[in-house]
Amino acid sequence: MGPLKRPMSNADEDKKLASILTKPDFVPHTVPWTQAYADYRNVCGDPWQISPAVFQPPIRKAQLKLYISRQGGGPLKRIRYTPGLLCCPMCGSPSRGSLDHYLPREDFPEFAVLPANLLPACSLCNSGAKGRTFKGAISGERFLHPYFDTCAKDKIWRIRIDGHPAAPLFAAVPEPGLAKSLRLMIVFHLDNILGTAFETAIATIWSNLPEALADDIQNVGLNGKQALDRHYRDTVVTQGLNSWRAALLRGVNANDAALDHVAAAAAKVTLPDIKF
Ligand SMILES: [Zn+2]
Repeated sequence: MGPLKRPMSNADEDKKLASILTKPDFVPHTVPWTQAYADYRNVCGDPWQISPAVFQPPIRKAQLKLYISRQGGGPLKRIRYTPGLLCCPMCGSPSRGSLDHYLPREDFPEFAVLPANLLPACSLCNSGAKGRTFKGAISGERFLHPYFDTCAKDKIWRIRIDGHPAAPLFAAVPEPGLAKSLRLMIVFHLDNILGTAFETAIATIWSNLPEALADDIQNVGLNGKQALDRHYRDTVVTQGLNSWRAALLRGVNANDAALDHVAAAAAKVTLPDIKF
């Protein structure tokens, strides 16, 4: 999860659309389609505010086809492989390389090739839990939009560790202290974007945490909290503030029993002899 610079300016998006609209089949739809692009940007893609553009089935089909024919091409490929991403901007996983529609193309084919609606994401986001969900039952429940929701430049979630640290349960929750409306959105986002691959990955990161802290505790002489601080700083720099690992480390930091458990295990790890 994280904020992201939009891949194209409004003017360039409109220029792209204008070139699409030169196709004879599309010409009669110039006004509503252009308006739909403007509306999308005005409301930052918010599905609760987007007025559905009324296109008939044959045009909807043609709009979808546009994406199919272009998905491997230059501009969409550049979004897919946006440089400098530390984690998936949608879910925070360490993998990237896929493309996701913020508003699903099946429901909003008019935005199938709108760059502001196309996000670099991981394959889990593109094929997994989110599917065609784009808003919840309660007004305001929607996904975070990395191009428009700048809140993700701050920490927005963590993994709460419940139960005994020897057999912990993990729950993805918003960071404490967030405004009510933001909290509503983030709860919806977490509940609908993190699937079973996330659960497996967190269990793995957790079980490997003693190894990750062992060198600092055994050789550098840091205590558990200091070693965790150091690992957290390194994680934020290399994987992002709202990455899976950073969210788990915030959960460990907030749970004394969990931190003590990890630190005690780290002190007992047999360090492997790794050299360059
Ligand atoms: Zn993802």
